[in-house]
Amino acid sequence: MLRYLFIIVLSLTGLGISTSSYGQDSKENIRIGVLSHRGDEATREAWDATAKYLCSQLPDYQFVIEPLKFNRVDDATRRGDVDFILVNPSIYVNLETRYRTSRIATMNNYRGGAAYNIFGGVIFTRSDRKDIFVLDDLKRKSFMAVDDTSLGGYQMAWRELKARGIDVEKDLDRVEFGGIHDAVVKSVLNGDVDVGTVRTDIIERMAANGEIDINEIKIINSQVRPEFPFALSTRVYPEWPFSKVEHTENVLAQKVALALLQMPTEHPAALAGNYAGWTIPLDYQKVHDLFRELNLPPYAARGRFTLEEVIEKYWYWALGAIVALLSMLGLTALVVLHNKALEQAKNRLEKQHELILNSVDDGIYGVDLKGRCTFVNKAMENLTGWSAEDLIGNNQHMILHHTREDGTHHPPDECPVYATHKDNIPRFIPDDIFWKKDGSHLSVEYNSTPMKGRKGKTTGSVVVFRDTTARKMNDAKSREHKKQLEHVSRLSTLGEMASGIAHELNQPLTAITMNSRACVRMMESGQAGQQANCSDAMLKIADQAERAGGIIRHIRNFVQKELPDRKPVLVEHIIETVTDLMGSEIKQKGIKFTIDIDPSVKWVFAQQIQIEQVLINLVRNAIDALEDIDERGRSLALSVALHKSKHVEFRVKDTGKGISPKVADELFDPFVSSKEKGMGLGLSISQGIINSHGSRLRVDSSAKEGAVFYFFLPVSTNPKANITEALSNDY
Ligand code: ADP
Repeated sequence: MLRYLFIIVLSLTGLGISTSSYGQDSKENIRIGVLSHRGDEATREAWDATAKYLCSQLPDYQFVIEPLKFNRVDDATRRGDVDFILVNPSIYVNLETRYRTSRIATMNNYRGGAAYNIFGGVIFTRSDRKDIFVLDDLKRKSFMAVDDTSLGGYQMAWRELKARGIDVEKDLDRVEFGGIHDAVVKSVLNGDVDVGTVRTDIIERMAANGEIDINEIKIINSQVRPEFPFALSTRVYPEWPFSKVEHTENVLAQKVALALLQMPTEHPAALAGNYAGWTIPLDYQKVHDLFRELNLPPYAARGRFTLEEVIEKYWYWALGAIVALLSMLGLTALVVLHNKALEQAKNRLEKQHELILNSVDDGIYGVDLKGRCTFVNKAMENLTGWSAEDLIGNNQHMILHHTREDGTHHPPDECPVYATHKDNIPRFIPDDIFWKKDGSHLSVEYNSTPMKGRKGKTTGSVVVFRDTTARKMNDAKSREHKKQLEHVSRLSTLGEMASGIAHELNQPLTAITMNSRACVRMMESGQAGQQANCSDAMLKIADQAERAGGIIRHIRNFVQKELPDRKPVLVEHIIETVTDLMGSEIKQKGIKFTIDIDPSVKWVFAQQIQIEQVLINLVRNAIDALEDIDERGRSLALSVALHKSKHVEFRVKDTGKGISPKVADELFDPFVSSKEKGMGLGLSISQGIINSHGSRLRVDSSAKEGAVFYFFLPVSTNPKANITEALSNDY
């Protein structure tokens, strides 16, 4: 009674002080937000005295109580509508985590005439329950708590059950909420529910008020703390904190904290608020731990969910994801199957392709734009001796085409295969060689065709080639055969000629022999009058000798023929015929052949066929002369040059051993030959032809440098010029 009187006096004094300080405009307003869980009026009633106490302690400030409903606490703190805030520990840890609110003092609760700054939860049943003693016995029992947001009236007990492995939702028969502590106690005692939980000191208070008989209550999981006299089943947690919001200055917060700590336990303000002063701020980590363990805000959002919780909460997402996953799997399987079928088809096509490529006798290979082999067929490998491994990925020109048949370098930019994909024009090469792996070469003819990729772009060339070695050998053989036939026919003509000559000459020679013998006999007989007979015989002899001379002249005329009909002829054409007829033989014999035509030379007066005949004879002799020379030293040069502007000089030069001394003196006579099968007519006929063209066939020769045959023909100024104008130029 005395205590309450004291409270009233003190509070009146406090009011007096505060009234005097109220209304002073110069004072800074400091708002204290207080959780209004029992209504704004009740809140003001309980806490205005504390505000006034602070006004009295810190006269420069005007402290005002701002009752905050549950749903306003968050906003007011976030927006800084209040400077200090007084809420329960659960709300506080949320504000602390989210808005950096920090506690400056913890409230001492006033219970049973003493101050306690901690509290806990009590789990209890009726004392006559023979089936409930420990936490495990709660399974499949009905359970009542105050509210699902109540720290002491539910969450503390929940944490202990969870720690014990009891899932409140699954393992308990049901969980109900009584709304207020007293209702929970009564429901358990009435037998409406099996077990209940309330915050500490409720049971003791109800018993003290005579509302219940404490002996009817059995505490489950009872905890004993010497300094804590109330029934307790859980861990203990700090009481309500008084805290500053983020924007409040630390200096002011310190002053307020000091004032609160200095408040006497039984100060009227404390009594009005039903507390017993303040103590230094306690550690609220335990409350954080509780929320973290129970997956409650502010930690609920941080993903501490069990798989079941996730499934329960997001089952539709999970279902969607599973459906999507299954569809993707289905699609993937389809794509895989499709790919497999495509792969098989591709393999089949590739095999067929390979089979076709390998079944042809012609060599086939592909070349990319960089000149590398991309594929080869079996025939290519067989013909060249190069394996696919040697060729694929490597430069085909450097392998097959690097050198020409005559040993000269074959530059890549002249390679017809590359030219094909450069100009995109297919080409046929009738006569070429490919080098084989063993160092020998292969005569080939080939088609090179541009290879098109997608969009019609050229990606390289395809070469299809054929080995022409055998065919070329046959050609060469038949040419040789023809030559031999010609030779034989020449011989037989000569034979006929010889027998004709013999026949023609036989008569005069026989007559000469007979007459000369008769003459000798007449002279030996010494008879007179024989002189006349003798001179008669001598005359006959002279006649016959003349006749024989006539026959020989006749033959010579026959051989030399008439003067040729000379016309302007393009030198180029003459040389072309010669190279056409002799080129392949020269090449075949491995002779280096050069042709050098003076560009100012155009037309000459000549009987074209005869001059060609001469040049062919000279070239043929040069080829024969090079037969005994080492292949590397064989060369033949055909040159045509302007000589003193009126004449054109034709030269055929070889690097043979020169004219044999045995034949040198009578080189241009008929039937002079150093060759086993030679007729010795070529040079004499050629000399005859050149003579008939007004020139002479000459030769310079040395054993070291070989022989050079040359002659001159008169220049014709134009294709229609007359020979008479050139006759004076004859050489
Ligand atoms: P054949 O060629 O039938 O022997 P030719 O009258 O053409 O008849 O040649 C006569 C001879 O002249 C040849 O046998 C050869 O000894 C010699 N001769 C001709 N041309 C050359 C040459 N370029 N080098 C060396 N000797 C040659």
